[in-house]
Amino acid sequence: MIPEHIKQFVDAFARLPSIGPRQAARLGYYLANQGTSAIQDVVDAVASLHHLTPCQRCFRVSHIADKKQNLCDICSHPGRNQKIVAIVEKETDLLSLEHTKKFNGRYLLLGEISRDGILTSAQKLRLNHLKSFVKNELGQAEEIILALAPTTYGDMDSSLIMDELKNSAIVITRLGRGLPTGGDIEFADDETLGSALEQRR
Ligand SMILES: [Zn+2]
Repeated sequence: MIPEHIKQFVDAFARLPSIGPRQAARLGYYLANQGTSAIQDVVDAVASLHHLTPCQRCFRVSHIADKKQNLCDICSHPGRNQKIVAIVEKETDLLSLEHTKKFNGRYLLLGEISRDGILTSAQKLRLNHLKSFVKNELGQAEEIILALAPTTYGDMDSSLIMDELKNSAIVITRLGRGLPTGGDIEFADDETLGSALEQRR
């Protein structure tokens, strides 16, 4: 009953975050009904993602102009304080923090928080990368801010990271009160996130 092409589309899109099989099917049918040029726009937009690569300092995927350095525009920006590092789960959380215009440090992208309260091996690698950067370039960071979502698993990971990085920074802080418990950094409004950033502890 469901055309093979829609099935293929659903297989690919239902793997994406926040999209289930029903939504994927709806998208597939919607696009099919829009016709060739609308489909091509989506094809081109998806294909353009190939141009993004992870920054070798913060692991944020971005369009990296200087292939020799492999640093994103935040890590290579002379005005950003490399001694203050905010650890975030994903790029969209970083964008929300940037949007508050209240943070002038750099970031470390941790990757998606697992639902079993442990750090994945990929996350440990990234933290080790930060540790060696701090050790080799700074001695100690001025501050490491844990900007993970105030959820059970975000809290568990934050305590593990605090332990892991305890010798890497003069202070390790977390975003302050005001963020709704169980909420998502990405969806917090500027004012809430900005004041959580100012009231970090
Ligand atoms: Zn970077």
